[in-house]
Amino acid sequence: MKFNLDTAELYVPDGWSAEQALARTTHLAIAAHQDDLEIMAIEPILACFQQKDKWFTGMVVTDGRGSPRDDLYKDYTDEEMRVVRFKEQKKAAFVGEYAALILLDYPSKAIKDGSNQPPIEDIVKLLKATRPQIVYTHNLADKHDTHVGVALKVIEAIRRLPKEEQPEHLYGCEVWRDLDWMIDTDKVPFDCSPHESLQAALLGVFDSQICGGKRYDLATMGRRRANATYFASHGTDVTTGLAYGMDLTPLIADPGRDVGAYVQEFIQHFAQEVADRVSRLH
Ligand SMILES: [Zn+2]
Repeated sequence: MKFNLDTAELYVPDGWSAEQALARTTHLAIAAHQDDLEIMAIEPILACFQQKDKWFTGMVVTDGRGSPRDDLYKDYTDEEMRVVRFKEQKKAAFVGEYAALILLDYPSKAIKDGSNQPPIEDIVKLLKATRPQIVYTHNLADKHDTHVGVALKVIEAIRRLPKEEQPEHLYGCEVWRDLDWMIDTDKVPFDCSPHESLQAALLGVFDSQICGGKRYDLATMGRRRANATYFASHGTDVTTGLAYGMDLTPLIADPGRDVGAYVQEFIQHFAQEVADRVSRLH
């Protein structure tokens, strides 16, 4: 499997051939950075863990060269940081028993450039090799430019596929901004209750980012718990971990639908709900 950059890597934890490893994929997540998959797509990772008929494949689009660094990594060059981050992402793929992991190695600026085609071509290639039922990427209301850049490239790549090769669902997931603000009927809830220690292990392998002064491991587990508890104000918690998705499927079902206008609809639903409650109670 050849991607546009010679330095792109494909890792298959259990040693299957690349073609076979990719073909078994049922759930595919495409993320910007090393560790985003484990933050945003834990539900499909857990759903596929130790299953014979469900396989998770992850793609990370950027190179990790610009990562923040501190502690034992503080004097690392950009090139050394890239090596560390690739290694950490492969550790997570091994621990999580992914079908395959693809590291495309693009600089962030290549993703933030909306007209840049090679990453879209690579995503199309991966979609054709994997034919997943469900695709996960970043949500369109995320506050990180590279995350939204990835989501736009994923939407564009899926739109280029013939209808019969498109996934059944496309979801935008939480990293840099959660989706608690969405009204409940717009949220796609992902149950993240099982295997808490495995979830912690998958977040914990990204030592270089946690040592960079950010406890993504604690924050992510805390967000899942908070989502579960605050999802419904009545009754007891039915899940102990929850993540939310933004349904992006209508954007692939109708390739003419405006992406910017689509995300604004969710914001309008939120604005309307707040306005209705205040006016009802005033
Ligand atoms: Zn990220």
